[in-house]
Amino acid sequence: MKADLHLHTWCSDGTESSAEMVARAAHLGFGAVGITDHDTVEGIPEALEAGRRHGVTVVPGVEMTSRLGATELHLLLYFNPSCRPGTGWQHPDLLAELARQGARRADRVRGIARRLSELGVAVSAEEILRLAARPGREEGDPAAVGRPHVARALVAAGAASSIDDAFRRYLRRGAPAFVDKERTEVSSVLALARRIGGVSVLAHPGIARNESLPEELRRLGVDGIEAIHSRHPRAARERYLRFAMEHGLLVTGGSDCHGNLKGESLLGIVEFSGKELGRFLERVRALPC
Ligand code: AMP
Ligand code: FE
Ligand code: FE
Ligand code: ZN
Repeated sequence: MKADLHLHTWCSDGTESSAEMVARAAHLGFGAVGITDHDTVEGIPEALEAGRRHGVTVVPGVEMTSRLGATELHLLLYFNPSCRPGTGWQHPDLLAELARQGARRADRVRGIARRLSELGVAVSAEEILRLAARPGREEGDPAAVGRPHVARALVAAGAASSIDDAFRRYLRRGAPAFVDKERTEVSSVLALARRIGGVSVLAHPGIARNESLPEELRRLGVDGIEAIHSRHPRAARERYLRFAMEHGLLVTGGSDCHGNLKGESLLGIVEFSGKELGRFLERVRALPC
């Protein structure tokens, strides 16, 4: 069986619903997927239902925006697919943390919109939040709004020629409309995961330019490392696989597909399988719930 354990839907900055994502994965022959939106679990119920329909195991997850000191890092949390309401991905402590992060994200987008208006670019916060809103979600109340939504609004308003162009001209760190976001210290996210029964995985360590992250996270008690990722060259993958083996950590793999945000979809590019997948699935299914 092959799996892709890192997927984004339109509940965060992806472009497809979680049901579409699961259906597409099923047609590509995936037996298991992880739905891991940034800072929201809003897409999970629909994904679980689509999983049952298509015979795909859906592992509920979330990609937590965190930090280690001043360094941003993404921590994937995974939960038991069969947990009851009030446990696992539906635990009130997790939902409270996600609500907090969602509010910070919305505030930050308002800050970016203010910068843009100072620059003479007429894209209002309301317009951005409206573009981010999806069916079934209250307008103006997107779960995890972020720069990709601002980028879409900039393209729609003709202020940028593409998503990449919007990031380059306005949104990347150092660009004139950049506003940083607040993050939760990773030790407290790890403590939350332990308390509510989640498996924690350091996401795409090869993207961060900080090679000491895996070791520091290991010391803090992380459960696994995403060795296999669409942006990890073979050498990075081998290095993180070795690291995981040496320290008895779980290994995961995923494409980090965001739908067709940038034109082409990454689903299908990464296939995670074998003993490591078996170990991972066994571990999440054994989580208390
Ligand atoms: P945010 O969480 O709001 O800071 O936005 C970060 C997200 O923007 C990432 O998860 C990526 O999906 C996306 N992103 C980051 N840099 C770029 C870029 N240069 N072009 C397009 N998307 C990007
Ligand atoms: Fe993203
Ligand atoms: Fe990430
Ligand atoms: Zn991601």
